[in-house]
Amino acid sequence: MRAIGHFIGGKEVKGSSGRTADVFEPMTGEVQAKVALASKAEVRAAVENARAAQPEWAATNPQRRARVMMKFVELVQRDYDKLAELLAREHGKTVPDAKGDIQRGLEVAEFACGIPHLMKGEYTEGAGPGIDIYSMRQALGVVAGITPFNFPAMIPMWKFAPAIACGNAFILKPSERDPGVPMKLAELMMEAGLPAGILNVVNGDKEAVDAILDDPDIKAVGFVGSTPIAQYIYERAAQTGKRCQCFGGAKNHAIIMPDADMDQTVDALIGAGYGSAGERCMAVSVAVPVGKTTADRLMEKLIPRVESLKIGTSVDPSADYGPLVTREAVEKVKNYIDIGIKEGATLAVDGRGFKMQGYEKGFYLGGSLFDNVTKDMRIYKEEIFGPVLSVVRAHDYSEALALPSEHDYGNGVAIFTRDGDAARDFAAKVNVGMVGINVPIPVPIAYYTFGGWKKSGFGDLNQHGPDSIRFYTKTKTVTSRWPSGVKEGAEFSIPLMK
Ligand code: NAD
Repeated sequence: MRAIGHFIGGKEVKGSSGRTADVFEPMTGEVQAKVALASKAEVRAAVENARAAQPEWAATNPQRRARVMMKFVELVQRDYDKLAELLAREHGKTVPDAKGDIQRGLEVAEFACGIPHLMKGEYTEGAGPGIDIYSMRQALGVVAGITPFNFPAMIPMWKFAPAIACGNAFILKPSERDPGVPMKLAELMMEAGLPAGILNVVNGDKEAVDAILDDPDIKAVGFVGSTPIAQYIYERAAQTGKRCQCFGGAKNHAIIMPDADMDQTVDALIGAGYGSAGERCMAVSVAVPVGKTTADRLMEKLIPRVESLKIGTSVDPSADYGPLVTREAVEKVKNYIDIGIKEGATLAVDGRGFKMQGYEKGFYLGGSLFDNVTKDMRIYKEEIFGPVLSVVRAHDYSEALALPSEHDYGNGVAIFTRDGDAARDFAAKVNVGMVGINVPIPVPIAYYTFGGWKKSGFGDLNQHGPDSIRFYTKTKTVTSRWPSGVKEGAEFSIPLMK
């Protein structure tokens, strides 16, 4: 059986804690590898390696750091197919979807190739008599990223690419459920010319996470995962004075206005609701048709599409989606479907009975669709994270606008309409971080920033784009006056820049 250790000091090392976790192959349900779970001492070893290597890396000129990133992009493209298959076999998503996972991460590494420009400071000549002021961005030192199972390539790259390009050393703690691809990415960074110790991967669970949070040499932590853990990490990291950004769960609504193109909308809902078995933080999990006629037209088209979803193995190129990540994930989603029925929602399509022939032990679940969901129900309030779409019928536009705005989560939202006024009003007023107009999954491109509001995001800076450079650097401002410009005599009041 494959044994996955850690990546410390430029190479893979075996775990020494004696604790391991099973890594499943969701499409067969078999255990395919054992991943080491790091102890506090192993995390410390990674931090010490990182600390020793970081000053020289930060002093390397930004063009050279960019060149490493450019080479890394090239190497990931070289190994694209192999990485996508490994990812699909550990996560469960289909190979084409795994390629998207890698691609959207790689775009952030491409963005980080612009680091010489992105890290430039500011300069003001003559801010006072003989006085010039300039600011510079400097690396923080050793920083860490703790990432979820559902994007095992994209989110690690969102974290480590800008952090490393800025001159930091990085400790990545990926999800213990699919650690294979993050380990490969670390190997590729080494092949690209990154010095040993600048990117370390410690696999593990809560013990490794707590060791990261309490380590005084780690200056910043970026987290992505579920909301309760995001909040815990935000609070605990703050206790040791770390800079921290934590992105949590979601409940993304799609508002369907009466004038929406219904065929396009249904295509969008099917892809965004059920793609990747609904295990995306930007999946649409609530559809809100406005008005009874819109709702009836929507359900008429949506039901047969959900019933005919093609669920397949992770390596079946014709599958709409593959298995979920674990058996517990399947049980959790089924439990929510039971709750929805008890709460009085109408289960229009029931995916619980789906069996994958020849793969009976795999973690499969058919698509489910609820109608007549109301805002007091748990299936509306809580994140299900599976192939389940809930339809909440709204009487009018104001009720539809209020639903995502008042929801605890605020990651993404979309509106489907042909009316520019309605779309513009919605984008301006909705209390959610990322908005799509006739775009169901509005994940911003790498050079914009990504981040949800309310319980979907803790901290004041977003991921990738310009915010990532701000997050992984600190600004120093220098006020200078050369002796030739200095007037004789002491000044006792606050100097004014005359
Ligand atoms: P999770 O919260 O269970 O795990 C995330 C990370 O935290 C993992 O590395 C895990 O090992 C660690 N962890 C888990 N329990 C912990 C504990 N008790 N103490 C310390 N660390 C712990 O999340 P997941 O199931 O891996 O991922 C799915 C969740 O991530 C969903 O809620 C999804 O919405 C969210 N997500 C959010 C975004 C976003 O950008 N907002 C993106 C992707 C996923």
